[in-house]
Amino acid sequence: MTALPATASRTGARVERLPLARYTTLGVGGEAEVWFVSNGAQLAEAVEAPYRILGGGSNLVVADEGVPERVIRLTGPLAEADLTPDPALSSGETVVTGWVGGGVPLPGLIRKLQKLGLSNLEGTVGIPAQVGGAVWMNAGTRYGEMFDGLHTLEIVTPGGTRQVTPDDLAWGYRQSGIPRGHIVSRVRLRLRRSAPEEVLAKMDFADQARKGQPKMKTPGCAFKNPGGVSAGKLIDEAGLKGARVGGAMIAPEHANFIVNLGGASSADVHALLALIRERVGAPLELEYELWPEQG
Ligand SMILES: Cc1cc2nc3c(=O)[nH]c(=O)nc-3n(C[C@H](O)[C@H](O)[C@H](O)COP(=O)(O)OP(=O)(O)OC[C@H]3O[C@@H](n4cnc5c(N)ncnc54)[C@H](O)[C@@H]3O)c2cc1C
Repeated sequence: MTALPATASRTGARVERLPLARYTTLGVGGEAEVWFVSNGAQLAEAVEAPYRILGGGSNLVVADEGVPERVIRLTGPLAEADLTPDPALSSGETVVTGWVGGGVPLPGLIRKLQKLGLSNLEGTVGIPAQVGGAVWMNAGTRYGEMFDGLHTLEIVTPGGTRQVTPDDLAWGYRQSGIPRGHIVSRVRLRLRRSAPEEVLAKMDFADQARKGQPKMKTPGCAFKNPGGVSAGKLIDEAGLKGARVGGAMIAPEHANFIVNLGGASSADVHALLALIRERVGAPLELEYELWPEQG
């Protein structure tokens, strides 16, 4: 397909047809109309038609055909972090920051907070998400999760913009209680003053758990652990480590990760997922999200 030039929307958002493979950690996914929005007015316009909100693309398998809806990406000020303590909301050891855009990459934010000696979110180290996507799923590890460090959330829907606090939401393990498609445009963080070395030590500790994970392009773990049993162990026991379809492979390091060896298609990944389900007797629930949804 011939590339179409970028255009500007009524409110000035950059709109361009682009391959979503560029924006996913797996590196697969066909084209969609991408809306790069940098302020509230552009966001309000972007949600006037069917849309999807894209974060770091670290939990997504996007079809080779792409998706028909417009895909919103938060940029500019919505991908910047004001970490200055708000004097009206901070006191003693507790720091409440200025606004942090939903499009801010989480790994860089965690490093900055460490240097500033601000604790509460270091347990999420190593999660390659954006703040908005990580908040939406309450991403985390056994060492901590996003809701450990949230004060206020700004949420945008076609109905308007509103601010909520964690107490307003039914959040829990890997869920925020925010309905799908409601956009986390900005958050204020609630942090605790700490020594930078202490925060770093906690980060290093949490990072140890990732040592066995593959370094190649991947959307993270493929399946949830069924009934507390390790999905990776079941896939390994089925003899599937290193199995390949096209450019996709079940990682030899960890069987619950599918990696892109280069040039993988979404169809390759789906074929591997089907192979795993066929060979592992137990019912397996997918960890990542499929765009478009299936079944
Ligand atoms: C190597 C690797 C390691 C990982 N480790 C972990 C881990 O330890 N713990 C963990 O919990 N997860 C982990 N993940 C999975 C993933 O990083 C998380 O699920 C993360 O929350 C996805 O965020 P994202 O910004 O990439 O969202 P995306 O993948 O872009 O989107 C996922 C969903 O979030 C929605 N979304 C994205 N941005 C917003 C927003 N601003 N507002 C509202 N909804 C939004 C999307 O619409 C979509 O429904 C890992 C992934 C990889 C690739």
